[in-house]
Amino acid sequence: MGAIRTTCAYCGVGCGIRAEVDGTRSVAIAGDPDHPANRGRLCSKGTHLGETVGLGGRLLHPMVGEARVSWNEALGQVASRMRACIERHGPDSVAFYVSGQLLTEDYYVANKLMKGFVGSANIDTNSRLCMASAVAAHNRAWGEDVVPCSYDDIAAADLILLVGSNTAWCHPVAWQAMEAARERRGTKLVVIDPRRTETAERADLHIPLAPDGDTALFTALLAEMARRGALDDAFLRDACSVPPGFWDDLNHDPAIDRALFARLADLFAASPRAITMFSQGANQSVGGTDKGNAIINLHLATGRINRPGAGPFSITGQPNAMGGREVGGLASTLACHLGFSAEERASVARFWGTDRLCREPGRKAVDLFRAVHSGKVRFVWIMATNPAVSMPDAGFVREALARCPHVVVSDVIAQTDTARLAHVRLPALAWGEKDGTVTNSERRVSRQRRLFPAPGEARADWRIVADVAARMGWGESFAWSSPAEVFREYAAMTRLAREHGKHLDLAEWAGCSDCEYERMPPFQWGGPHPLARRFPTADGKARIVAVSPPAARSPDPDFPLRLNTGRYRDQWHTMTRTGLSPRLAHHRREPVVEVHPADARRHRLLDGGLARVETPFGAELFRVATSEGQRPGEIFVPMHWTDMLAGGGRTGKLAQPATDPHSGQPGFKNTPARLARV
Ligand code: SF4
Repeated sequence: MGAIRTTCAYCGVGCGIRAEVDGTRSVAIAGDPDHPANRGRLCSKGTHLGETVGLGGRLLHPMVGEARVSWNEALGQVASRMRACIERHGPDSVAFYVSGQLLTEDYYVANKLMKGFVGSANIDTNSRLCMASAVAAHNRAWGEDVVPCSYDDIAAADLILLVGSNTAWCHPVAWQAMEAARERRGTKLVVIDPRRTETAERADLHIPLAPDGDTALFTALLAEMARRGALDDAFLRDACSVPPGFWDDLNHDPAIDRALFARLADLFAASPRAITMFSQGANQSVGGTDKGNAIINLHLATGRINRPGAGPFSITGQPNAMGGREVGGLASTLACHLGFSAEERASVARFWGTDRLCREPGRKAVDLFRAVHSGKVRFVWIMATNPAVSMPDAGFVREALARCPHVVVSDVIAQTDTARLAHVRLPALAWGEKDGTVTNSERRVSRQRRLFPAPGEARADWRIVADVAARMGWGESFAWSSPAEVFREYAAMTRLAREHGKHLDLAEWAGCSDCEYERMPPFQWGGPHPLARRFPTADGKARIVAVSPPAARSPDPDFPLRLNTGRYRDQWHTMTRTGLSPRLAHHRREPVVEVHPADARRHRLLDGGLARVETPFGAELFRVATSEGQRPGEIFVPMHWTDMLAGGGRTGKLAQPATDPHSGQPGFKNTPARLARV
């Protein structure tokens, strides 16, 4: 068999892969030299994908409790449980919690069922934990969730500011593009991050700001550009709307060392081609949306946007966080970048042919599980994600699921922490078995293609959801027979976005044949700089937004430290896939708590010894690694390990559930904590 072109299962870089299969369950992986996102490059996770496609631990048959049942029985159970909840408690007693691991076709069908036919917008996604603040910042700045940059801007930039991103570990192929730009054109790299990560080590300038210091820093940088006369007055006048009193109220204190700030300001002022790439360190904050708008304000006011090498560039975490955002998989949007105005609702209701369309935004992830806990939500269907581990205050989420009368889980793995709490488990197709599309951080749509036959009785997520919809009596609206048919409907629906003045537009694919869908090359909707045509607001102007840093937290003598969380280079999420690869395990064999040596001395901790990390939400044991890369008073643990694997870390249960008021994204990066020697 020849090479099959597909897309990596992991991060939002969205690397193209050439997969050689031989008819067995093995695959040889190579980077696709023709894919614009990676041009042949892959990182360690992508390279070792072939070690993760075995069937060990897979959920291969529908299960009700511990009993194997037929698909007919399982789907009937899901439909009857959902119907009973809707009839007795109303549509808002039902919720879906989905995932950036789903393909766009899966997302589209789940969103259509929930918002269009169940009649509630209680469908949210684990992308809420990842990128929701960037979404909210985009919406506030230009009225649509549009990323205004492309990967080619990395090669064209003279200055790259990386905010809250350990890119060398978390988006390694994007990092390789940055290294190439530095080599080729002398691009300067500034890393703004409390930790001295591997990325920071290799930067021209590292700014170790305090957690949640980004808004103050970027506002002060904007004030400094104004003081130096470095604003783009014509762009501000013609293309931006500025709130009254904005310039008078600017905070001028960057809250960092003055000499560092001066170097940063000099670099920015000297670099008309500057991009600011921001990731979870900015987004996972109780002030994440303001951080995004502080970054965007700087780029708008200095005209560093809408041209090569310039712009604010949010880097997504998951392989299809963007596709989910596009179809409407967040509780805060309706569908296809449309919201809940009467006009937009009417368009969507017409398109879907429904009189049951939801009326208002639904519950965002943290609030959704609170409603499960309180009994307001009585039926929850969780697809391709593991919230009992990954949500903040995960112990509370676990408790919520344990008391929920109807928990349905669709997954590829039989025994995740979440699956153990399910009443019905539905076997889904994994990467390499399913067909569909994903969208990466630069709005590039790529195909994921099937490499192996479906194992056991596993089915595609879109088909499972459509089969349940049919049993609910809505089969006519869910009568697709292939992912190509779903994609065509979604692509046609993006015409509504265009009619309402949005940029999202895949309509040229609405009439594609099955063969064209099968051969679809990677394509970028909106082109490299979609906002250069116009800002999709009513008056065509971008909004400068007044922002403020999160309120300073008063010191808590019981929890004097701040806990930060993040990724390791070779692991992904809760390790259900990367944990299968022996070679990926070499990089870090267990989770450690990283502690500044001064804090280690204060707590009598030994390098390599054990410590208990405690927060108001939970406690967990970790081995200690002292590190000068930590700021004193701050500690770091990785997010990946669960109870079920060696190591015992379970970071979600330590993290605070406090959220950003605009985006609902939790503040994973700054939880009060304390340490104790064990
Ligand atoms: Fe996969 Fe991301 Fe690595 Fe590319 S950079 S190979 S998409 S994990």
